Amino acid sequence: MKRDLICIACPVGCRLEVEYDENNRQPDKIKVTGNRCPKGEIYGKEEILSPKRVVTATVEIDSRLQPRLPVKTSAPIDKNLIFDLLKFIYRLKIRPPVRIGDTIVRNFKNTGVDVVATFNLLE
Ligand code: SF4
Repeated sequence: MKRDLICIACPVGCRLEVEYDENNRQPDKIKVTGNRCPKGEIYGKEEILSPKRVVTATVEIDSRLQPRLPVKTSAPIDKNLIFDLLKFIYRLKIRPPVRIGDTIVRNFKNTGVDVVATFNLLE
């Protein structure tokens, strides 16, 4: 199989061609070309084996300044978990003060990925 991807590991956006065997998805059997650096090869292989994304969202906050607080994952998370993560986040209601980088959700489903605030909301 062949897949054309655009590497999202940096703003250059290299066009990758990834060749792999649908029945034997071993990292060393996946061939990535078009990458300008090793990160592209890692990204291309990961997209075939276990695609991940950074997730951004908002959490309800009990503040008189604004109703929702922007948050994001501390690292890319498995695409299969994104729906569960968003469901979890949208059920939360937190209270100020919150500072950029504060952990809102710790180690979601033992992935090692947290959800952190990306905005200061102190009252
Ligand atoms: S392969 Fe390297 S240079 Fe190209 S987009 Fe990915 S990270 Fe950037």
